Amino acid sequence: MSVTFLDLKAAYTELKSDIDLAVERVLASGYYIHGPEVEAFEEEFARYCDAKECVGVANGLDALNLALRAMDVGPGDEVIVPSNTFVATWLAVSQCGATPVPVEPDPRTYNIDVSKIEAAITSRTRVILPVHLYGQPADLDPILALAKKYGLRVLEDAAQAHGARYKDRRIGAHGDVVTWSFYPGKNLGAIGDGGAVTTNDPELADRIRVLRNYGSRVKYVNEVQGVNSRLDPIQAAILRVKLLHLDAWNLRRTTIAQRYMAELTPKGFSLPFVPEWANPSWHLFVVACKDRDAMQQCWSNAGVPTLIHYPIPPHLQQAYASLNIGAGRLPLAEKMAKEVLSIPIGPHMSTSQIDFVITKINQ
Ligand SMILES: *Cc1c(COP(=O)(O)O)cnc(C)c1O
Repeated sequence: MSVTFLDLKAAYTELKSDIDLAVERVLASGYYIHGPEVEAFEEEFARYCDAKECVGVANGLDALNLALRAMDVGPGDEVIVPSNTFVATWLAVSQCGATPVPVEPDPRTYNIDVSKIEAAITSRTRVILPVHLYGQPADLDPILALAKKYGLRVLEDAAQAHGARYKDRRIGAHGDVVTWSFYPGKNLGAIGDGGAVTTNDPELADRIRVLRNYGSRVKYVNEVQGVNSRLDPIQAAILRVKLLHLDAWNLRRTTIAQRYMAELTPKGFSLPFVPEWANPSWHLFVVACKDRDAMQQCWSNAGVPTLIHYPIPPHLQQAYASLNIGAGRLPLAEKMAKEVLSIPIGPHMSTSQIDFVITKINQ
């Protein structure tokens, strides 16, 4: 029995004929930048997310960065971020010249601890940036209430949460703006890079549309110093095919997660916690281990591949040495980096592979 952590080739193989047709359609169309495939995907993804607007961009990091720029976040501003996240969340803030202000996770959900946000708000705070980590929705209602109380904006990093629901409503427009990545390994993944922003605010969408295209609305007329960050039409055409299967593929992930929750014996590790209001997209299935590195080695020897999301929290990265947040200052993020282990989950795991993972881990 062989189990891969995530089988991306199987995702292509299942949809090969539709994907190949979509790519050929773009090749034959003569539109290789923007154009009808990008517009159609933007419309379809906005509808899927229950959002009024969608703007395609080149990747998830640009989506975050352009969303912040569209809200005029810049030097001197502070943005509240989770201490426990993929580094891109922080990089987008620093790229604007603003300062990421970390808030520790809830030790049960691993998402930003909403009870600790208020203490981090200062006169410089402009935005609260929760991440729906591992596809588990962050607790948005208290975050939105705080934002209202202090006149802040909310930007959601939904790079891992395509199709997840918070209190029965799909992630996509709870906050002012929501950003997405279509990196191949995400729940909705392209065959290359891609990203998007969704929002119910037409003014923000318009500003991001201008920013992603050199700051230009009319060719050769530049309103602002924008960037080149466009969603490739070939990727858009592929994403249109894959979007039709997202719910079914998320359901397969949910079925695996439910089996893991019911059948794994958590000895030496603990299972994820899902609040009753959450419908996760199960991008990752993350357990916390007492002796993580030994556990990873043991499972690897038994044929169960695992990954660590993430081994070094952003504040301890050399890239953020200048923030001077030393070791010990964010103990929960540091503890997670030592304990977390992601076990295989994905829409192309067979029943026998799932059985195998459960059996081996329980041994
Ligand atoms: C993947 C990811 C990103 C960045 O997406 P890219 O498309 O790789 O730039 C940002 N935030 C989180 C939480 C992610 O998982």
